[in-house]
Amino acid sequence: MITIMANGKINLTLDVLGKRDDGYHEVEMVMQSINLSDKLTIEKIDICDIILDCVVKGVLNKKDNLIYKAADLFLRTYNIDCGVKISLEKNIPVAAGLAGGSTDAAAVLCGMNDLFGCGLSVETLCTLAAKLGSDVPFCVRGGTMLAKGRGEKLAPVASLPAGCAFVLIKPQLGVSTAWVYKNYQAQRVKKHPNNRLMLRELEDKNLNGVCGSLGNVLESVTIGAYPQLAAYKEKLCRYGAKAALMSGSGPSIFAVCENIQVARKVADRMRNDYAELEVYEAVPASARK
Ligand code: ATP
Repeated sequence: MITIMANGKINLTLDVLGKRDDGYHEVEMVMQSINLSDKLTIEKIDICDIILDCVVKGVLNKKDNLIYKAADLFLRTYNIDCGVKISLEKNIPVAAGLAGGSTDAAAVLCGMNDLFGCGLSVETLCTLAAKLGSDVPFCVRGGTMLAKGRGEKLAPVASLPAGCAFVLIKPQLGVSTAWVYKNYQAQRVKKHPNNRLMLRELEDKNLNGVCGSLGNVLESVTIGAYPQLAAYKEKLCRYGAKAALMSGSGPSIFAVCENIQVARKVADRMRNDYAELEVYEAVPASARK
């Protein structure tokens, strides 16, 4: 039996460069894993089956669960003739822009690699991961990465300055990533993030510079549809965060704070003002070992 943590992620930047012939969008983004995480336990079973001991909001059919898809892909690819039972403690909000499903799938691949002693390299796991979703390879690696292509071409970049922390808020909306990309219109974007500048600010460990370089073009779609998200961003900054941005396709917003003490104060004030929000404090997580 093996227990493995699955970290969520936020996007420090997210730019869409264009639409590709295969239907995906070409993106360029700086991704950061965070310690808001799910916990998975995977054990071998004698029968050739995948047993899931978990409930994921909105996922009614077991075979639609990314955990099932990842386990099935692993067993089939490596001709493993036994099964697994997987239990999940779900802490990352679903359909939130925090890669909750992608990170569970990545954890299953990494966990099964260890459990069955396959000795696969990170590169091989990432190739497998890309078959499950665009964010899954990043979730295999974690840390701070520049992602290109449809999100699967990864390069490690400098980490955030030590000590900084995040407040995450999840409004009571579920936003589908497919819907957001479908409604994306480049002409409605006022400002694109400058990824080169973001990488330089990370290199310099300049938190104010990082905050000044945050940007996500998908805000034009999701905040366009749900303007209350802009009010949450403004409130987070008024309560002491340095900056706030939507993560991924949303609707979660993260705010960057100087340290965890400030993050706790900002989080408490948001909880106090908005009973309808899920509010979390988090810190950057490093790459998977
Ligand atoms: P992304 O990974 O693209 O950032 P997201 O964070 O917006 O996506 P997820 O929480 O990953 O959203 O969920 C996207 C969809 O995947 C959900 O609406 C749900 O239907 C489906 N899904 C399947 N398996 C899982 C799982 N184990 N956890 C969460 N969602 C899952």
